[in-house]
This record gives sequence, structure tokens and C-alpha cells, in this order.
Amino acid sequence: MPNEFTYDDAERIGCKCSACPLRLDGQGPVAPEGPATATYAIIGEAPGPKEISVGRPFIGPSGVLLNDMLEAAGRQREHVWVTNAVLCLAPGDLHRYRASVRLDNKNEKKAAKKENREPEIVLDPVTACRPRLLAELERVARNAKLIGLRPVVTPTGGVSLEAITGKKLSIMRWRGSEIRATLETKRAAEATKNVIPAARLGRRANV
Ligand code: SF4
Repeated sequence: MPNEFTYDDAERIGCKCSACPLRLDGQGPVAPEGPATATYAIIGEAPGPKEISVGRPFIGPSGVLLNDMLEAAGRQREHVWVTNAVLCLAPGDLHRYRASVRLDNKNEKKAAKKENREPEIVLDPVTACRPRLLAELERVARNAKLIGLRPVVTPTGGVSLEAITGKKLSIMRWRGSEIRATLETKRAAEATKNVIPAARLGRRANV
């Protein structure tokens, strides 16, 4: 199945693609998937080449691992919101790519200062894709609240945890723990989310 989800589609659901360097450098985007009524969400880091070629998140080895994990937890994938911290595949490695974006921005600021002009800064991809992710999580929280359940969100690695909390936290430190996190967005300000790093997936889930 070809990937028919476009950058315009991604912007419509909250991504800031025009300010994101992956709009030019990356491949994608891959749409999140799941029922609009989901009360549970699983968040990967970014799609891999397999996901890009098919246009679906968590397929291939990471999908097999995810399905196994969900089965062990007594959940069916059809009932789960499956998404990623960033919807595009970065060239090389996302961590190195983000470091290079930070360095480029730093150099641009220096150059702009010397030349007495405004710097042309690009957004970190996680920041650019985050409003979309938070909107998805808001919906999961609302769904759960409507039927008196606790919303549950499972990040599969450090980048997903950062995308949810806005903070760089060690996934290994919080692995298997429950974190209560509040989304920053206005509509969800009153809702408390429960963030449970996946015990089994860890960072391996998204390679
Ligand atoms: S990573 Fe997100 S914000 Fe960046 S281009 Fe892809 S969809 Fe847009």
C-alpha cells in the first residue's frame, strides 16, 4: 500500500512541517493509526524504512514486538492508538540528526550576530511534531475520562518519553515505572495522564 499521507495532512493534524528540517531532509510522513475512541496509546520514536515504504507505523520487526507485547498485556492492537514522536524518518540516525540541527542553529546564530541580521533557526523535529502528538494524547485522555478509565500512554524509548513530557528523562531510569504527567496544552490542562514506559520494548522497539 503506498503512503498517501502527505505533509499537508500532517500539518492539518498539528505538525509544524514547514518549520521542521525533516520536511526537506527526511522521508515520510507516516500517519498514526488506531481507533478514534482509543484510551491507550503507544508511542514509538520514528518510522523506520519498512514503515516508510508501507505507510504504516510499527510494522516489520518492531510491529511483531509490539503485537507480542500488547498480547501479553491483554490488549488488541485494533483498540490501541499507535503513533510516533516524529512522523518522518531522519537521514542516518535521529539522535545524530537532532545534534546536527542543534549545531547548525548554534552556528547560524553566531553568523547572524556577526552579520547583524535575524538568525534563520529551524525547529528540532521532536518539537515540530509535538503539538500533533499532544493533540492525539488529549483525545486519548478525553476518551478515557468519558468512560471513567485512566488514560494510559506507553513511550517505547527516550525520545517518545521526551515528546510526551517535554523533558529529557532516561527511559532506562523510568522503565517499568508509572509517571503521572500533565499535558501542556490548554484543553488538557486539567487532565492527568499516566505514562508507563514499556518494560519489554525499550529502545529496541523502533529499530
Ligand atoms: S517530523 Fe513531523 S513536523 Fe517534521 S516534517 Fe515530519 S511530520 Fe512534519
